[in-house]
Order: sequence, then structure tokens, then C-alpha cells
Amino acid sequence: MVAKGKGRTGKERIFGTNGIRFVVDKNLDPNFVLDSALAIGTYFGNRRLVLGMDTRISGPLVKSLLVSGLASCGCEIVDLGVVPSPCIQLAAKDKRMPGVIITASHNPPEFNGIKCIDENGMELSRDEEAKIEDIFRDGKFELANWKDIRSMSRLDYRAEYINSVVSKVDSERIRKARLKVVVDCANGPASLTSPRILEELGCEVVTLNGQPSGEPTRPFEPTIENLGELMLLVKSADADLGIAHDGDADRTIFVDEKGEYVHGDRSLALVAKHVVKEKGGLVVTPVSSSQCVEDVVTKAGGRIHYTRVGAPLVARTMAEKGAVFGGEENGGLIFPEHLHCRDGGMGAAKLLEILARRKKKLSALLREIPHYSQFKTKIPCPEKKMQQVTKKLANRLRKKGKKISTIDGIKLFEKNGWVLIRPSGTESFIRIFSEGKSDKDARELAAQGKTLMESCIKSV
Ligand code: MG
Repeated sequence: MVAKGKGRTGKERIFGTNGIRFVVDKNLDPNFVLDSALAIGTYFGNRRLVLGMDTRISGPLVKSLLVSGLASCGCEIVDLGVVPSPCIQLAAKDKRMPGVIITASHNPPEFNGIKCIDENGMELSRDEEAKIEDIFRDGKFELANWKDIRSMSRLDYRAEYINSVVSKVDSERIRKARLKVVVDCANGPASLTSPRILEELGCEVVTLNGQPSGEPTRPFEPTIENLGELMLLVKSADADLGIAHDGDADRTIFVDEKGEYVHGDRSLALVAKHVVKEKGGLVVTPVSSSQCVEDVVTKAGGRIHYTRVGAPLVARTMAEKGAVFGGEENGGLIFPEHLHCRDGGMGAAKLLEILARRKKKLSALLREIPHYSQFKTKIPCPEKKMQQVTKKLANRLRKKGKKISTIDGIKLFEKNGWVLIRPSGTESFIRIFSEGKSDKDARELAAQGKTLMESCIKSV
């Protein structure tokens, strides 16, 4: 049966870089969520789907709407409950079932969102999402007949997820090291898995914000501003390591034994270096990643491949090219032997393995990673001009014989570093991000990028 929904006008895109996101408050039209569910259900047809969510207050509300829509289309739902996103992705891969994740990751508590994954546990490609968007816009939902409505069952997959992570690292070596770790779960679903992963690995575990809650004690995003308590606790508890997750536990940020915040590009480089030393091969990372990643990968005998910004793209490219490791500077680390998606629990376990094998403190291991300074700024630009000005700038730079890359926006390479000039996907801004050998270099490169772009905007 084809039901005609109300349909929508325009070229509305409902998927952003990481699924569908919305604020759940009195302004939310529940039909938006229900229609999204009907579009997803129509796309997947009468398949079995895994479903799970993070700890947000609106989780049960969104789940009700989502289940109603999916079940109306004849989907059979296997409900995993509140679990980290990578746990849902592992269940999808193991059971060869696509799925839906209810999460807004690091966004504030009033947000929620929907992410679709395939039967490999990978986030859907842009083309696949566009098909769901077409169904959503046209309102052409395919509903099941009464006798084809299928059941919903419950599956607890936490033990399988924990065992899978533990089995992918040198657990014996980690247990022998008897590391003391403070883990900040952000009151998210990591509360239900990360402390147990660390205990299984023989760590002495101190848990912070480990009570699942939709009103987190600290914001879901693991930035330096939000991890003050963890940094203090690591130092005062004399721990070897601090671990912090985001709201759905697919990312991990570390704090060293001195209580110092470790920026995500440095932990990315550290893990990349060790994976390549062990296995050789290819590492995939977005074009915005620090030069320190490429430096350590090439020095260790590996190769680097750059992609556009966005974790799903990194994961998909890794699968296509058979990469050994990949990730982003925000703490999203991807280990293909486990899953082709970011996994916070796996990232934490891998870093413990590195500490145990190298028998050095984290701060000492990080001193082996080259240091670069970065600088970020942005300039306003009308959305309709974005494409044209970016093209114009690329042409101007080529004419001048400059070395550039146009994988995502324009990356201009100079002797003292690089500057990346990228139109924002969601706002009327052009983002300028630079990296140099010193703070002065980084600032100068950003200023150079800004001047170049401003002159292009004026001339278009
Ligand atoms: Mg996340």
C-alpha cells in the first residue's frame, strides 16, 4: 500500500554530516520525526532493523515516533535500548541488519537526532541518504498490510560489545600494566560499557559522570572547557590516564597523567603511529587534520590518504581502500578490525595497549609527536556566492603557481604551513583554518587566507 504523506516542498535536506538533527521542544513538529521514520522505513522495506539510543530525555519520545513509522512500513525492530552508538553498529554488522540510532552525539541536551546505518554498521552514504530524502519530500510512503506488521524484540548487546573491544587489543599486556584510569562518561551510554571495558582490562577504574542521565553534569562535548573536573581528578588521584567520551560514546579524548588535556589530533597521530608501526599500510583522515599525523605515518613507513571532512566519509574510504586505521581530530578513531565507524570504547582500549607496550607515560609518548600551532577564524559570505568565490580563489592560486588541494574547499600549502578555506555547510560563513610551525606562522597563514578570500568575495 502506498500512503501519500503531506509531502514537502523545496529541496529540503534532512540529513546533515552526521544524520538528522533537531531540537525537541514545543516547536518540534512530531510529524517531522514520524515522516522521517516513514521515509526510512520505506527505504529499508520489510527488513529487520537494530535500534538503540543515547541517554537524552527525549529519547523515548523520539523512539515512539520512530518505531511507529518503521513498524508501519513492515520493518521488524530489534531494540538494543540505551547503548553507545558503536554497540548498535557492532550488532548491525554481526547480525547483518541495517539499523537506526537515536542520538545527537555531542549536541546540547535539548537536541536529538536519527542516524541510519547499513548491515556493515557503517553510516549510510550520501547517495543512500538522498534516496530517503526523496521519499520524505514526495511523501510516498509504502505502508505494510495488517498481516505484514512485524514484531519488536529486545536484545541486550552490551556484553558482546565489551567482549569484542577487549578481544581486539593485547589484553594480557594491558592487565599486567595495572593502569589507573579515570573515565568521564558524560552521563551518556558509555556509563554502561566503558568502566566495564576498563575493568576487564585489569585497570583500577575511577568513574566520573557515570550515572546515565539526560541532564548531564558536564556538556556532552569533550572539549578542554568541559573537562576541568576530569583533569583535576586525574592529577589528584595520581592516575595514569583520563578518558572522556562524547554524548554517544563514539569519540574519546584523553588527559595525560599530569592532568593535561590532549588535543585530538595528537592522540590521533599517536595511535596512527603505533598502528602503522605494527601493520604498515594506509591511514585515512580528513584534509583538516594536523600535519603531525602525516609526519608520523610516513616516518613509520605508512601512507596517508585525505578525504573531505566528516567521519562517515573517512570510514567509507577506509573500507574501499583497505586502510589499517583512520580518524578525525575530534577524538573519533576508527579501527577496521573492529568496525568501520568511530568507537570511543575501542579508542580507549587501544591507547591503554600503547601505554602498556611502550611502558612510558602518556606525556612522554606525546613528546615524540611533532608540534604544530593552529588558528581558526571565519568570514561572512552569502550562501549563493560560496561556490563561485571558492572556484575563483582556486583559479587565482593555480595561476600564481601555488600548491593547492581542492578535496574539501581549498587547502593552500606554503613553506611554513597550510591554510584551509572551506565554505560552511550550514551557515553563511567561510571557515579559515591554518596550521604552522609556530603561533605566528599559523596567524599569518590565516590572515593570508582571509585577505585572499575577502578580495574574491568583493570581486564576485
Ligand atoms: Mg558522537
